Parts: sequence; C-alpha cells; structure tokens
Amino acid sequence: MTEPPARRLLLVHAHPDDESINNGATMARYAAEGALVTLVTCTLGERGEVIPAELQHLTGAVLGEYRLGELTAAMRELGVQDFRLLGGPGHYRDSGMMGLADNDDPACFWQADVDEAAAQLVKVILEVRPQVLVTYDEHGGYGHPDHIQAHRVAMRAADLAAEAGWTIPKIYWNRVPRSVGEEAFERLAEVLPGLPFDKPGVLDDVPGVVADERITTEIDGTAYAAAKAAAMAAHATQVTVAEPYFVLSNDLAQPVFTTEYYELVRGEKAPGARETDLFAGTEATS
Ligand SMILES: [Zn+2]
Repeated sequence: MTEPPARRLLLVHAHPDDESINNGATMARYAAEGALVTLVTCTLGERGEVIPAELQHLTGAVLGEYRLGELTAAMRELGVQDFRLLGGPGHYRDSGMMGLADNDDPACFWQADVDEAAAQLVKVILEVRPQVLVTYDEHGGYGHPDHIQAHRVAMRAADLAAEAGWTIPKIYWNRVPRSVGEEAFERLAEVLPGLPFDKPGVLDDVPGVVADERITTEIDGTAYAAAKAAAMAAHATQVTVAEPYFVLSNDLAQPVFTTEYYELVRGEKAPGARETDLFAGTEATS
C-alpha cells in the first residue's frame, strides 16, 4: 500500500463553481505541491440560473449532470483528482435561492437532516484524515440556503469525526478582507468600460467579507491565477470570466481574487502575522 500524502486538505462546498470562485488558487497550489486535496460538493446545483442562451434549455437533473461535467473540467484545470458529491451525485438537491418554494422540496439539501448529512461527510473525513478543513461561515458567506447548510454539515461532521477518532487540527472559513474588497471595486470603476460586463457589483455581493483584523491566513495564489480563472470559466453555465473580474447570472461584475483569505476558527494559529500556509503548525499530525 502506498502512503497517503502527508498534507491533506478537505473543502466542503454547496454547488459546483463555489470551489473555484472561493478556493481555486489554494486548491491548485496544494495539489501542485503534492498535498491531497479533497473536495466535497453537497449538491449538483441543478437550480442554478444558466447564463449562456444556447444552454438555457438545461434544467433540473439534466443541468445537474451537465454541471458535474463542468466540475470535472474545473478540477482538471486545478489538478485536483479527488472530488465527490455528498452522498453521491444527485443525493441532495439544490435548494434554490432563499425564500423560494424550492426550499421546501423534501429532497433538497436545506431540508436534509444535518446529522444524517454530516454522517456522510464523517465517512470522508475518517477516510482522508485531513489536517485542514475549509468551509463557509454560519451565514454561508452570503445567505444561500445550501451554503448555510454546507457550513452546518461541515462543522457538525468535524465534531462527529472527532468523537469517532479523527480531530481535524485546523478549520478555516472563507473570507475576504474588507480593504481588499473595497480596493478591487474601486479599480473596477476604472476598468469596467473595457470589460464585457455591463454593471459593477457591490462589496455586499461578495461572500465572506469581514474586517481585516479577522483574517488569520492568506494564500498567495499569483502563480495559480491562470488555473483559477480557467477553472472558473469551466463552469460556463454559471460564470463568465474576463480577468480580473467575473459575473454570475446577475450580470454584476465582481473581482477574481488570486490571493485567497481565510479565518482560522478552530485550531492553533501559527505565531506571528498572517499565516501563509493553511497547514502551518500541523506537521506533527499525520
Ligand atoms: Zn453556491
């Protein structure tokens, strides 16, 4: 039997595309460095709004299957081989935006029993034994029910896995420091006329924005910016990229961040200023 990679990173996301938008550079970097990068996506995003006119006939399960193909292509761009759907593809349905009738679908992720869903994730945690878990904050970054539920399930699974024998040493939430977001939108105002997008987004569109002091960790993904942009572009039903900005189906331009930011919420922060490695201090844990 071959030894598993020494460094193992687990990311929990709601829909295909969230991983590339939030963590594309981080995933590409750690995959390139030989770490095991495991992505668990909770739904296939089959209620996502489709951008390209020629693909708008894709809906429901057919869209879900198509988005699995986009996810596969995105993972190829990032060099990530281990990506899974929670409970298997299509097990949990996309819940749609908050407040829609879709939220009441008994098969949707929002209606899932948190402990049952967490049990699926515990299996992955006990198999992979990650030193680092990355997910969203309790608002799911921006309030989409599947993102909120992904947070709940990831945090619950970390607790259950600890009881079952694997305590994840470090847990991070995806963040954007307010100053970085503000700066990116100021620059957007200047370059927007040259971009193929109509309208500027606002900082409130960006998930996970917090005061700079809360940022514990920043991953410089400059070397992986192209891989991140390619991975985002692979999700063509959901995302249109014109670096260094992109739009979702709402057509509002948002920045592509190549440095990705995190807040450590469980575990020991490495001493000094911001960490530059999610695994800092975990060397003793294998
Ligand atoms: Zn999402």
